[in-house]
Amino acid sequence: MSKIKIAVLCAIIIFALATPFAVRQYKIKQLRRQKEIEHANACNNNLRLLDSSKQQWALEHKKQKTDTPTMEELRPYFGQGPNAIAPACPDGGVYMIGSLGEKPTCSVPGHFLP
Ligand SMILES: [Zn+2]
Repeated sequence: MSKIKIAVLCAIIIFALATPFAVRQYKIKQLRRQKEIEHANACNNNLRLLDSSKQQWALEHKKQKTDTPTMEELRPYFGQGPNAIAPACPDGGVYMIGSLGEKPTCSVPGHFLP
């Protein structure tokens, strides 16, 4: 067997072994990205709930833009009764409710209300 044939055969073998690995790595990367997007969307929904709860709290208690509710004060407005569980970031971020003039925020980068 000539050196060229051996080189071509080696190249084919390397390609055959590397391709499934590369495809698998690509799929893993895609799944991670999809999971990040799902978590960011879920967190965004939580932030919207916090924001709408703040607005309802402000209307009922005649609050001003500088007033800041606590999570306990917002609990009745989460739509699950007075003992509702506060929303939690799927990535473990910490929510800052902020004043009525501000949007609630999450400590995880990329999790925010637009
Ligand atoms: Zn978050």
